[in-house]
Amino acid sequence: MTQRYSRRELLGGIGIIAAATVGLSVATTALGRSSVVESDGRLTVTATTGQVGDAARNVGGDRVTVNALMGAGIDPHSYTPSEGDLQRLFDARVVLYSGHHLEGRFDDVFAALTLDKPIAGIAEAIPEHLLISSDAFAAQIDPHLWADPIIWDYTITATADALAAADPDGATIYRQNADAYRATVAEFAARARTALETVPPERRVLVTAHDAFSYFGRQFGYEVVGIQGVSTETEAGVNDLQRIAGLIADRQIPSMFVETSVSPATINAVQAAVRDQGFEVVIGGQLYSDALGDEGTLEGTYLGMFRHNVQTIVTSLGGDASAVETI
Ligand code: ZN
Repeated sequence: MTQRYSRRELLGGIGIIAAATVGLSVATTALGRSSVVESDGRLTVTATTGQVGDAARNVGGDRVTVNALMGAGIDPHSYTPSEGDLQRLFDARVVLYSGHHLEGRFDDVFAALTLDKPIAGIAEAIPEHLLISSDAFAAQIDPHLWADPIIWDYTITATADALAAADPDGATIYRQNADAYRATVAEFAARARTALETVPPERRVLVTAHDAFSYFGRQFGYEVVGIQGVSTETEAGVNDLQRIAGLIADRQIPSMFVETSVSPATINAVQAAVRDQGFEVVIGGQLYSDALGDEGTLEGTYLGMFRHNVQTIVTSLGGDASAVETI
């Protein structure tokens, strides 16, 4: 079910924020300051997903307060903003989202906010030649770009640019923070590669529920096979199932990675079909795909989430994950 917002509702919200902005300008002029900051001295940033919020926190540091709207377990493709979310979007000085239609039900809101404040789809800063086209997604582009930490790098720079647009006095700090964080992510990605390459090449296959790992697979040399949507009730579905089971048995893939969104019937059917071919596949651990873990935990950060995925994949497929023991 799609919730729509009338232009009037959206502009009504913007009217309120415009009035507040006038008040804020007067206040800052009285203080003789040129930067646009809130009364506690911090820039308020509203981000859609946890991954985007994490980039804002790392780049903004002490100068920003970040509200990420989508917590653990939220599906960004289908998430509809609540009234509280709209308020946070209108109240923010800067709005950051991922983009390429990931947050499909926010499009009207983003269009209206563009008139009012810096707003950036940070993953849209990734150069076009690095994007994976896919008919499975609304924008014909696979939006799961955070799955590849090497190209996620561009989003960190884009975050610094968006924050600097709202707060030019902080531009140098944002750039320095972005450079430091980019170096941290790159260093961790190199260790992730080391760990992922300990898995025997023929086993480098991710049998997953959700098609969120294409960028990961391309970057680290893993084949990605999706079982979501495989139906046991059509001939095509049964053929798909046999093909996937054959691949698992032939290459002796010890583990599948599943999410709760795939019906147990499909998982059981894949397992049974693999067994018929004389091999046993285990249902491996859960991977974080579209949302981070709980706030306040390591998996609630981008690097913590990424490490969890790498550890789960490497250990389930018989590799050595010691290179990612620390972040
Ligand atoms: Zn997704």
